[in-house]
Amino acid sequence: MKEEETIIIIGVGLIGPILALALKKLGLHCILFDRRQEPSSISLLDPVQSEGASINIAPNGLKIIDELCHSLYQEIEQVGCPVQIFSNCNSDGDKLGEFETSTVFKPRYGYINIGIARSALQSILINRLKTDNIPVYFNKSLVAISQAENELVTLTFKDGSSCKGGMVIGADGLHSMTRSLLFGAEKPTYTKTTQTIGVSPRPIGHRDVIHTVFGENACFLTYPLSKSHLVWAMTLPEENETPETWKTLQPQDMDSIKQESQVMSFKSPELSIQQLVSTSVKIFKIGLYDRPALSTWNVGRVTLIGDAAHPSTPHISQGANQGIEDIGYFCHQIKLQLNQSDKTPSLKDINIATLFSDYQESRIIKTTELVEKARKMGVLRVSPKDKCKERDQLFRNAWLNNEIRYKSYDLLYNYKEE
Ligand SMILES: Cc1cc2nc3c(=O)[nH]c(=O)nc-3n(C[C@H](O)[C@H](O)[C@H](O)COP(=O)(O)OP(=O)(O)OC[C@H]3O[C@@H](n4cnc5c(N)ncnc54)[C@H](O)[C@@H]3O)c2cc1C
Repeated sequence: MKEEETIIIIGVGLIGPILALALKKLGLHCILFDRRQEPSSISLLDPVQSEGASINIAPNGLKIIDELCHSLYQEIEQVGCPVQIFSNCNSDGDKLGEFETSTVFKPRYGYINIGIARSALQSILINRLKTDNIPVYFNKSLVAISQAENELVTLTFKDGSSCKGGMVIGADGLHSMTRSLLFGAEKPTYTKTTQTIGVSPRPIGHRDVIHTVFGENACFLTYPLSKSHLVWAMTLPEENETPETWKTLQPQDMDSIKQESQVMSFKSPELSIQQLVSTSVKIFKIGLYDRPALSTWNVGRVTLIGDAAHPSTPHISQGANQGIEDIGYFCHQIKLQLNQSDKTPSLKDINIATLFSDYQESRIIKTTELVEKARKMGVLRVSPKDKCKERDQLFRNAWLNNEIRYKSYDLLYNYKEE
């Protein structure tokens, strides 16, 4: 394929591969690069060996995936676990609210949330890139970008190799090198909260529920990531900067978390936190970060998408879902341009400046608002003792009826292209 017709995507995380599959469906040609080693198919399918834990794909993300690639949606539904119930309580075990997603989300948004292991989703995506013959190169760490007006973009990698393309999309996550090269280096912002995350077998009788327990200075959340396993996450305040490492803890560190955390005394009518934590097959701890909003995502023929553009803390489970919304809007703008011509789709027929500015305009305000909203939810999750009653009441009120629920969930889940 000619260089001027090639779209280069940096990052084979979650958003890069979904974007490439969607662009291929539109008849456009992509190649992807990632700095990681190619993950082995065994590690991707092993929830203990693989990095990370799970992703809660929300109705907005699922709608776009289904519309862009129905068979991908079906595979995610088959491998993951649909979430039937949302419920929460305080750490005394008093219920704050509960509802069924099939009666609340399905009629309004068309879909219900699906929990899936991050590694299983990665495996599905990488296999699909292969079967769609989309070239993917691992061990390629981007280090430089050069572009002159009306010319192709040249990317240089750490190993000295280079590549040219007509458009470049940085899907390289929280520590995006594409973003640094476009707008200058800047450290992600540590939000003074951490998550200790574990994967455990689902106890007998465990419901398909996203369940949250709000306590003093801490919060415990769990949801199923498959028919057999669930993920749990404790959010805790931590002044000292904690790195964003996804590596599984050593057995002695796992033991100290199992024994010492204050969350172990939390009560829940739904499940035993002690049982879930003590049966964990893996545990890891990460610091939570976001970054200040950018006023633009584009320079010339290069743009940003997903976490590279708007990394967020995970407290409203929208990081990846908003990245998928980016893809939905980006592809919608491309379709509008391509529909105006009867020719075979080609990058040369796309006005890149118009595409980038329409894409950015449709996304930047909402994603900035949601990064802020996630931050605020993080503060509520670790409420100190004197704020717990107020916080509990807030959550009781938020789920009183559908009218009130939709006020908060519409902002997250009500995806419309226009
Ligand atoms: C604890 C936690 C839980 C979360 N849970 C959810 C959830 O339930 N739902 C949800 O929607 N979101 C969730 N998120 C957010 C979600 O993980 C991110 O939004 C999502 O992974 C972003 O995808 P991405 O492809 O933009 O970036 P990433 O998945 O981070 O992928 C970036 C890729 O770029 C590569 N890369 C980086 N630098 C370079 C370079 N210089 N050269 C080449 N390649 C490079 C990396 O190796 C990586 O593969 C969670 C986040 C955290 C921290």
